[in-house]
Amino acid sequence: GNKIRNAKLVLLGDVGAGKSSLVLRFVKGQFVEFQESTIGAAFFSQTLAVNDETVKFEIWDTAGQERYHSLAPMYYRGAAAAIVVYDITNPASFTRAKKWVQELQAQGNSSTVVALAGNKADLLETRQVQIEEAKTYAQENGLFFMETSAKTAINVNDIFYEIAKRLIQG
Ligand code: GDP
Ligand code: MG
Repeated sequence: GNKIRNAKLVLLGDVGAGKSSLVLRFVKGQFVEFQESTIGAAFFSQTLAVNDETVKFEIWDTAGQERYHSLAPMYYRGAAAAIVVYDITNPASFTRAKKWVQELQAQGNSSTVVALAGNKADLLETRQVQIEEAKTYAQENGLFFMETSAKTAINVNDIFYEIAKRLIQG
């Protein structure tokens, strides 16, 4: 029979990096130019079939505002996976992403699969974070890395699929 595996997944990253947009693209196949800011956190679920297994993602999309920081551990503790998102046009968001990775490595669960997403990859003309820099950082910190675009859908399903594969492989 087809096994269903529940997987709690949390999105972390700066306000405006595109966390909610990535979830909206993955769950509903949509994109909006003026995505409303998330308050607290929002919950979504979506299943993904990988070979003969089904992963049911239980997705927590966090706000990213500093004033909600103290809530973050509720979402990343016990998470099977985390996607740390930054905006390739915003170096401060990359710095913030590294802080989230540090916090996950210090306070989180060592078995959590952590992905780094360099989002807004469609905005190449205004890129400020070089792909090589992010790749090297990800390698050094045991993360897997993809540049994504919630707008064009590039690598969005792929990042969730790659996480699902890693969860199944254990
Ligand atoms: P969050 O605060 O991390 O949840 O970010 P949002 O999902 O609310 O996105 C912030 C803004 O960036 C919104 O205006 C989105 O339309 C825009 N945005 C999100 N992802 C992309 C993307 O991949 N490309 C472009 N060009 N804009 C994006
Ligand atoms: Mg949001």
